[in-house]
Amino acid sequence: MFTIDHLGIAVKSLAAAKSIYETLGLPISSEETVEHEKVKLVMVPVGESRLELLEATSDDSTIAKFIAKRGEGLHHVCLRVPDLSAAVAKLKQDNVRLVSEDIRRRDVADEKTPDIAFALHAVLETALQRMRSGWYH
Ligand SMILES: [Zn+2]
Repeated sequence: MFTIDHLGIAVKSLAAAKSIYETLGLPISSEETVEHEKVKLVMVPVGESRLELLEATSDDSTIAKFIAKRGEGLHHVCLRVPDLSAAVAKLKQDNVRLVSEDIRRRDVADEKTPDIAFALHAVLETALQRMRSGWYH
């Protein structure tokens, strides 16, 4: 089954964006900085999905460039997929532009998430599979 894991939203100010969701009473994860991507982020769980609020920590980060060009807003959609290798094979077969040829493994909190990014509709899409609860095989 495909589900939306999270929507990545580029924001100028994490503090300002967080306050909106705090006002609504939603829980917000603690801030995490991803050095090599030059961003800091929080996750806001909403039902079975999450919002990922992303603020650049440097003017040359992809989030800073995205905001300079397009303003704040939807940066990427992250789909959870049942079979990442199969999903990647289908994308390649259809000549969808992959941002990287490699399936990356990220350590996010307590889980490992193999993922791959591709470009569609002027926003990034990320397909990921979780190494948890039977998703990963
Ligand atoms: Zn994301």
